[in-house]
Amino acid sequence: MQDILDEICATMNDRSERGQVANYIPQLACVDPNQFGISVALPDGQVFSAGDANTLFSIQSISKLFTLTIALGKLGDAVWSRVGREPSGDPFNSIVQLEHESGKPRNPFINAGAIAIVDSIMMGHQPKETLAEILQFVRFIANDNSIGIDEKVAQSELLTGDRNASLAHFMASFGRFKNPVDCVLGTYFHHCSISMSCQQLAQAGLFLVSDGVNSSTGIRVVSAQRARRINSLMLMCGHYDGSGEFAYRVGLPGKSGVGGGILAVAPGKASIAVWSPGLDSIGNSKLGTEALELLVQHTGWSVFGH
Ligand code: GLU
Repeated sequence: MQDILDEICATMNDRSERGQVANYIPQLACVDPNQFGISVALPDGQVFSAGDANTLFSIQSISKLFTLTIALGKLGDAVWSRVGREPSGDPFNSIVQLEHESGKPRNPFINAGAIAIVDSIMMGHQPKETLAEILQFVRFIANDNSIGIDEKVAQSELLTGDRNASLAHFMASFGRFKNPVDCVLGTYFHHCSISMSCQQLAQAGLFLVSDGVNSSTGIRVVSAQRARRINSLMLMCGHYDGSGEFAYRVGLPGKSGVGGGILAVAPGKASIAVWSPGLDSIGNSKLGTEALELLVQHTGWSVFGH
């Protein structure tokens, strides 16, 4: 495995077309695009890494995977009264479908869906309490208490978050919110601003590899059925309107974020985190996707066959 990752890393470092860093969040626009990291966590607890795998980056929408898991734990199937389970086919920050579907987002991974998920887990608590709960969960599944939030990124999102604010207020106009919109948004911006390295992220994804059990700690996080369902949502909706393209090229459940990270799950085989800040036109890591494509070619890990 180490040889494969070293080779992929060398190939990626040679590529000149690296995509564009997200510039709509000023703090993310400052990140050096010439970085690349990859980590593969295996069910037996081994972790292999190459490149900038220990550098912290903003996980952004990858955090939506964790908030969805928390919401399912708290609410069970009632979550599906707040968000749907269908790919959106529209950009991650689109408002159009909300009007057609009475303010109900198509899935939990587009911005509107993730904001609705935050409202569902707050249950009248203060943003600080909900954030502490989210952080505690992420630390638990990654087995790493050092994971934290990058306050500068959160403030940068708050200051430029007009689009997300409009999504939230639009949903609230249908009577769908149970908490004050500003509290929900503040919590959302902060959970998107969690910083993690590829190594930490690959470890955090392990529970989705082994039927809901983090096999490196032996602790069950969710039921086997829930792990399978979360993986199916990631496959269908984890890359916004690029989810079909990602399934075609990589063939693994995955969740991307505009910080340039991708967490991919090869059920039964490995949890993989890649990071490179340059994005394609849809907002998914350009080199991250290319690296996963190569990894799957080397390992035959696609869920669709070798
Ligand atoms: N915090 C980002 C936003 O709300 C998340 C987007 C993403 O990673 O796709 O715009």
